[in-house]
Amino acid sequence: MIGKELVKKRLLFGIEKYEDVSMSSFCTMRVGGKAEMVCFPKSICALKRVCKFARREKMRLVTIGAGSNLLFGDDEFFGVVVGLKNLKPVIKSRHNLLYCSAQTMLSRIAEFAKEKELSGLEFATGIPAQVGGAVVMNAGAFGSSMADIVRRVLVLCGGKTKWINAKDCRFGYRTSIFKQHEMIVLGVELCLTHRQKDEITKTMIAYSRRRQVSQPKGFSCGSVFKNPPETYAGFLIEKAGLKGARVGGAEISSKHANFIINTGNATVKDVKDLIKLVQTVVFEKFSIELQLEIEIIGENYDDTRRLPHT
Ligand SMILES: Cc1cc2nc3c(=O)[nH]c(=O)nc-3n(C[C@H](O)[C@H](O)[C@H](O)COP(=O)(O)OP(=O)(O)OC[C@H]3O[C@@H](n4cnc5c(N)ncnc54)[C@H](O)[C@@H]3O)c2cc1C
Repeated sequence: MIGKELVKKRLLFGIEKYEDVSMSSFCTMRVGGKAEMVCFPKSICALKRVCKFARREKMRLVTIGAGSNLLFGDDEFFGVVVGLKNLKPVIKSRHNLLYCSAQTMLSRIAEFAKEKELSGLEFATGIPAQVGGAVVMNAGAFGSSMADIVRRVLVLCGGKTKWINAKDCRFGYRTSIFKQHEMIVLGVELCLTHRQKDEITKTMIAYSRRRQVSQPKGFSCGSVFKNPPETYAGFLIEKAGLKGARVGGAEISSKHANFIINTGNATVKDVKDLIKLVQTVVFEKFSIELQLEIEIIGENYDDTRRLPHT
């Protein structure tokens, strides 16, 4: 125990660190219990120390991006949550290639690309994600996704940095190799195409308008369920009469039925109970099992991915 305390103190150097802190402030739905330790290292070297510490102490490790697809259960998470917000921000382009550090917000990259007359990121307008999280999730919209533009990904794996080429990223519908294996995404190289700034702007404005019309404001995680083959989760939930359904402070949006909104005082239990209700009713009516798109730490999340890695 004393040993652990000493290690914790040494960790403070170059790391913004919190203990027993509520994860609700780090997730866009603003719900969630506490985490034993949350670290924001200020350099790659400090990040490596956090990973080494977690490995040595046999603590689980979760990397968090903007927290827009992630919830932590109401019970305390025993492990280390690591975020990259304090690392040196990098965003640069050469010809049609754009490199950015993992913690860069997608919207910022989309704006940067637009200024450089580089096309491919228009779909990302309005996705409140870091590019690292967007790669892990293969985030997408309007018929495009990260898989279409990623050339290679820089990761930290087993204490070493290495590049992973797009073809080895195993991108699928809201998934990638990074969902199965614990690697920390440090940076992303995107391959874009030339397009006039005016044209890019027009597309981005059109996509923003479509979002404003179809998506609710408020604390959410975006789409809760993946779309089943050949239909939309939101359509099924709406047809099941569940728009506006509520458990505690969690509510199915009456604007977009695949969004759950924290109306102010929701707990993760409320959200989980509402998810179960939706899955049960949709299955009864359509014999379709809705799968979660969001990740609930301690629930649908693959624990083997977070075990101390070698
Ligand atoms: C209003 C709203 C609209 C949305 N619209 C869309 C949309 O149109 N399309 C879409 O696909 N999604 C959408 N989302 C969901 C969400 O933005 C995406 O899933 C996004 O990719 C999550 O990125 P993040 O940085 O928030 O990651 P987080 O939610 O923090 O994490 C997601 C996963 O990535 C892992 N992770 C994050 N960063 C790293 C890293 N650097 N290294 C390794 N692992 C990491 C986490 O451990 C977790 O497994 C929306 C969400 C909201 C709130």
